[in-house]
Amino acid sequence: MKRILDNIKNTNDNKHERFVYRLVFIGCVVVHFIFVLFFGMLHSVAMTCFNVVSVLLYSVLIYLTDRASLKAIGSIAYMEISIHSVMATLTLGWGFGFALYLICVVPLSFYISYKKIGTSFLMSLIAVAMFTTLKYVTSLDWFIPLNPRHLSGGAVNAVYIGNSIVSFIMLLALSLVYNVYRTRAQNSLAKKNEILLELAYTDPLTKLSNRHSMYEHLDECHEQALKDGKPFTILLADIDDFKLINDIHGHNNGDMVLKRIANIFKENVPEGADVCRWGGEEVLVLLPEYGLDEGAELADKLRKIVEAEVFDSGKKEFSVTMTFGVCENKGQYGVDKMVSNADKNLYSGKRSGKNCVVC
Ligand code: GH3
Ligand code: MG
Ligand code: MG
Repeated sequence: MKRILDNIKNTNDNKHERFVYRLVFIGCVVVHFIFVLFFGMLHSVAMTCFNVVSVLLYSVLIYLTDRASLKAIGSIAYMEISIHSVMATLTLGWGFGFALYLICVVPLSFYISYKKIGTSFLMSLIAVAMFTTLKYVTSLDWFIPLNPRHLSGGAVNAVYIGNSIVSFIMLLALSLVYNVYRTRAQNSLAKKNEILLELAYTDPLTKLSNRHSMYEHLDECHEQALKDGKPFTILLADIDDFKLINDIHGHNNGDMVLKRIANIFKENVPEGADVCRWGGEEVLVLLPEYGLDEGAELADKLRKIVEAEVFDSGKKEFSVTMTFGVCENKGQYGVDKMVSNADKNLYSGKRSGKNCVVC
């Protein structure tokens, strides 16, 4: 079941991730198309061609999002953005803000899930190195842009603002995706913890508490009894001649009996009581703040309900009986001694004819 759950989750995560990639690449096609027009207007042949190739490249990447490794296509996008940033800055100069995209590739390199985190760090360092080198080179006295354009200050600013906005949108989108992933991961972890807790504390067949869970509860009651001297009581119940039930009606019907008896116990114990599958066909009921007489009374009530229950194997109707050993504790016994006393009472009941309650 766990593997099925994991597979469903992985498939969904993957689908979700591919959807994000596709959306980002559609954005890249739009932005590069605008750049084609922009560089075309500036008569920058090299950058116009570069951006035409970029539009084609992202169109291919959109097609590949469902077919290729996300790591590979993410890395191609990282390279394209970096090279475009460098080329556009060297072509027009620092003031147009094309270097800003190098800042955006830092979170992108962490978004691509490389096997080693070091790869993402290395890619980020390369981006920082390119950014600072570009700033240094473009501020040198002898630096002349490859395609110097004497645009008005207002036009340069407008391009800078445009590039800033696109960069912010990229950062915003990546941060949003991180946030969504983190929330999803936390929710999925919480759900898995719930399932694990249930598995750790529940018997899979009867859905009753298991022995481990019962021991925790018994220890709590024992500590409480030591503090305030209030009693608590346990009932240890065992199905009579269950081996015979299995032999006559089959193991599956034996399981059906166990489940039905578990329900009878759950439905008929008071609030705050804990019912546990102690062993194969043994049930232990913990009754906090119950004395011996109240415990024995409840045990007899349960014994009668079980005795009256009719089971149907499909071929034949049958009934079962149970024997109960009861033990009260006011803090005078340890938990193990208490269970052992209840067990002794149970077996004394078995020896004296079964289907009875022994205190
Ligand atoms: P007694 O009255 O003395 O308790 O006799 P008994 O036959 O109930 O006791 P015994 O210990 O001889 O046999 C217990 C049987 O319970 C044997 C085992 O196959 C069966 N059993 C234990 N766990 C399961 C289970 O999960 N499902 C089924 N169907 N049977 C189980
Ligand atoms: Mg038995
Ligand atoms: Mg038994």
